[in-house]
Amino acid sequence: MTDRKTQLTSNLVKVEERIASACAAAGRKRTEVTLIVVTKTYPASDVRLLAELGVRHVAENRDQDAAPKAAACAGLPLDWHFVGQLQTNKVRSVASYADVVQSIDRAKLVSALSVAAVRAEREIGCLIQVALDAESGERGARGGVGPDGIGELAALVAESPGLRLDGLMTVAPLAGPYAGRQQAAFERLMGFSSRLRADHPAANMVSAGMSADLEEAVAAGATHVRVGTAVLGVRPRLG
Ligand SMILES: *Cc1c(COP(=O)(O)O)cnc(C)c1O
Repeated sequence: MTDRKTQLTSNLVKVEERIASACAAAGRKRTEVTLIVVTKTYPASDVRLLAELGVRHVAENRDQDAAPKAAACAGLPLDWHFVGQLQTNKVRSVASYADVVQSIDRAKLVSALSVAAVRAEREIGCLIQVALDAESGERGARGGVGPDGIGELAALVAESPGLRLDGLMTVAPLAGPYAGRQQAAFERLMGFSSRLRADHPAANMVSAGMSADLEEAVAAGATHVRVGTAVLGVRPRLG
């Protein structure tokens, strides 16, 4: 094995152990939680190694980087998740490779993504990104719609051709009442998920937790964790 493959193998083993023990501690089955590896800033060669090591879900947050990487990895058995703030002028490109867009946070994005999905003859899974630090009617500093906007946006996704409503996503807020209280934040997200599932029973994905707080997310009930650093290493700072 190459050095990089050895390193990724050992990091994946550690992350797998963390997820497994968090599941055990929460009385959940390991199969209830899916690992998504966030490959942003890392090359397509790493994505290929991860696929060889059994990873089936990868995530990216910038279309400029993700589009060529996804093209270079076409044919690998991977689902591509888009997790970054998404401008409508990038939607057509993202719709060509993303299987799931986790950062749905406004109506204009839903309509643009629907048009692009239909044109690409693809069905795209959508998660509403919830900003737990946003006031009523606002969007969060790191993207996301305030909690009172979830219902309307979900209904819009559910009726949009080419789109499938899969559930909710959040990033633990750095400011506001939930700063530093990841588990409380993720439990609040679970509450919104229960409410969402009352109207949309199939929308049962809950994407929460990253390298630093995946245990809190699993404890709260997350179905998907998004892990970058703990698998690939510390990213060089962007910009
Ligand atoms: C980068 C990123 C992650 C992964 O963060 P790590 O701390 O590297 O695990 C998860 N979710 C989103 C939305 C991200 O942008």
